Amino acid sequence: MLTDAPPRKASRAGFLESARIGTLDLPQNGRLLTTAKSIESAMKAGKSTDVRRACAGFLAVTSDFYGVRACAVRVLAARPLRVREHWTTELFGDYNPRTMLIRLWMRTAVRKQVTSFGTFLSTLCHEFCHHLDYQRFGFRDSWHTRGFYERTAALYHHAKGTPPKRLFWAAVRGGRWRTDWPRTNRGM
Ligand SMILES: [Zn+2]
Repeated sequence: MLTDAPPRKASRAGFLESARIGTLDLPQNGRLLTTAKSIESAMKAGKSTDVRRACAGFLAVTSDFYGVRACAVRVLAARPLRVREHWTTELFGDYNPRTMLIRLWMRTAVRKQVTSFGTFLSTLCHEFCHHLDYQRFGFRDSWHTRGFYERTAALYHHAKGTPPKRLFWAAVRGGRWRTDWPRTNRGM
């Protein structure tokens, strides 16, 4: 994962704030785990309407917990031609802050392979964290900062029931950061 470069003056305070917030409160009642499991079963059955319904259930729980308006979700069979997200690796979803709509697609762009449940859930958490940036934190933009990725990872591991991983970062050119996977996987 690679962070965005810091923006110019006007948005810099929000960017730094986003980078600083590395944790997220998490619902402790197991509801996220339950709804995530229903997404997994729907994906196994392969019907996108069921997957969409399960994702909407997930977003209802998270939006309620964080006290934000629920965002809508659309599940597509394949990646649309026009996408908003400017993720650095492969694309699996996007979020439109104006319409508050998350779109997810079940097949990869390049090899048309079915997206794995882990990648799909991680994308859902990623896009929902964009929603939180605007609706909960009040940022004027939703940057991919170290804090953003850390919040996303916290939500994802909690929903998946896997132990949280501390992310380690290495500085790269232009004020950006790249995940140091060897250190992250070693946990030190
Ligand atoms: Zn993003």
